[in-house]
Amino acid sequence: MSAASIVVLGIAFGLAVGALFALLIRAAMDRGAAVLDLQADALPDGALAVLAALTQPALVVDGSNAVLKATPEALAVGLTDGRVLLHGEVQRVIDQARSEGAPKQADLQLSRAPAGPHTLVVTAHAAPIDVTRVLLVIDDRSESVRLDAMRRDFVANTSHELKTPIGAVSLLAEALDSAADDPEQVRRFAARLSTEATRLGTLVQQIIEFSRVQGADPLDAAEEVPLDDVLRAAVERTRVAADARDVGVVIGKRSGLWALGDRAMLTTAVQNLVANAIAFSPPKGHVGVGLRTRDGIVEIAVSDQGIGIAEDDLDRVFERFYRTDQARSRQTGGTGLGLSIVKHIAENHGGSVRVWSRLSRGSTFTIRLPETPAPASARPRREKERA
Ligand code: ADP
Repeated sequence: MSAASIVVLGIAFGLAVGALFALLIRAAMDRGAAVLDLQADALPDGALAVLAALTQPALVVDGSNAVLKATPEALAVGLTDGRVLLHGEVQRVIDQARSEGAPKQADLQLSRAPAGPHTLVVTAHAAPIDVTRVLLVIDDRSESVRLDAMRRDFVANTSHELKTPIGAVSLLAEALDSAADDPEQVRRFAARLSTEATRLGTLVQQIIEFSRVQGADPLDAAEEVPLDDVLRAAVERTRVAADARDVGVVIGKRSGLWALGDRAMLTTAVQNLVANAIAFSPPKGHVGVGLRTRDGIVEIAVSDQGIGIAEDDLDRVFERFYRTDQARSRQTGGTGLGLSIVKHIAENHGGSVRVWSRLSRGSTFTIRLPETPAPASARPRREKERA
């Protein structure tokens, strides 16, 4: 139960008017207008002050469960339409509290709208104010439940993804052992062992990167980042892969554009896009990397003329561990995490990532970020003099 709920329940039970009450009254004055005034005169002042100070779904009902007063949040989550309670489960908790004359709480799953797909995971706290009227406060735990599920899912996916290369490494080690007398075989197994070890290394590195970008808020300690330098650093880091596949990577002319955020993360995001563009291009293919600005949004575009992505897969490529073609992905050494890392980084910077693609024609991935003016120290002298 949250601290706010404990306070509310205490007061509902007739906590004397004291320092706490004064505080609540002050908060009520700030928020009073926001509380839905249904039948205000039917409630004691204390309950009104409590409701007005709350920022969570809460309401007071009369003996027939008609809503006397509700916070705007109670309407927003579909707890009431302003007159009646919309969930039978909630009514039951209220009825129980009223009939026992004591506070009751229950963990519930409520459909957000009668026909809506979303479920709210809540704890409902009901406390009688007197013999008929009951105060109900809802703790919405949906977000933390969703995050827990995501974390569990990630751990399960990760273990599954790690199993394949780890299994391969141990099988190859056994094969090496039994082929000890055949140098040709030993060389072959050793080469494959090295490939699997590299894959394992990449996967572990991407998993660490993914958890890092998932938890981080780059805007907490944001710096002005020169995006031309980010593009150059990202392309430089993919040079070996580009040379190995004989793919030419061309960067557009300097743009002088800047964004606020974390330089290392932005470089990783662009690097992931360029690495994919190279991996999914034919030999001697061309990859273009460019920057432009439109309506205060900077766009970093990475284009290739490679294999492209089928329309059905376009929505899913940003999901963790999603690969459109497992077999090909094994060849390219892909982990299926690269694009979800890009998505997280873009979103953590207040931006987004988009994709355009046609099978056999190529793809363009675009990271969109809020533009920030170049810092004074980086502006050309003439411009500084004008400013
Ligand atoms: P991976 O490590 O497998 O490249 P990503 O998350 O970076 O993982 O990409 C997910 C999938 O999206 C890839 O396996 C591939 O099927 C597809 N994909 C990503 N970039 C491109 C591209 N430039 N061209 C074609 N397909 C791509």
